[in-house]
Amino acid sequence: MIIFVGRSNVGKSTLIFRLTGKYVKRGKRPGVTRKPIEIGWRGKTIVDMPGFGFMSGVPKYVQEKIKTEIVQFIENNADKIETAVLVIDGKSALEIIERWEKRGEIPIDVEFFQFLQELEIPTIVAVNKMDKIKNLNLTINRLIEKFGLLGTWEDYKDIFVPISAKFGTNIQELRKLIEKNIKKSQERHE
Ligand code: GDP
Repeated sequence: MIIFVGRSNVGKSTLIFRLTGKYVKRGKRPGVTRKPIEIGWRGKTIVDMPGFGFMSGVPKYVQEKIKTEIVQFIENNADKIETAVLVIDGKSALEIIERWEKRGEIPIDVEFFQFLQELEIPTIVAVNKMDKIKNLNLTINRLIEKFGLLGTWEDYKDIFVPISAKFGTNIQELRKLIEKNIKKSQERHE
């Protein structure tokens, strides 16, 4: 099982379509369809989690409920999940993370990343919308720091992968990382 998580509007549906050719887009109103969507891909199950975090027009308590349901799904399926792909919007993630930090809160993307790490689920951070990022190296190095990791991008080439779901850039690299994690997970279970 491969799970995709991310805030709404980061390009998660576009990415899943790029990878699988399958359309997972929910209705126009974000947060309305909250159930995880499962699709088959190369003999595996891909799960598209509902987008989390702020969504305009979605009350705070509904956002909290979505988050809780995602956490429960991941906890309940932790032993089946071979890899997680956390999709972030590379253009706006840093700004959003810094805004949360200033308020003394843990940014939700960071929280999810650390949660997945605690459960020992191999996680790939797909830094999407790279077509909009000016200084890729700087952006990814700063993200790594925000995610609570030591070192630079050089140390985390298997975790942080810049992509453009819309234009199809680096999708092959992401696919390779997913396959690598699946292989490692199978070895662990042997
Ligand atoms: P989701 O809510 O995370 O499933 O996001 P969507 O896949 O619906 O994408 C949200 C918006 O971001 C859409 O307008 C997409 O066209 C756009 N988008 C997705 N990927 C990219 C990308 O790589 N670059 C740019 N510039 N826009 C993107």
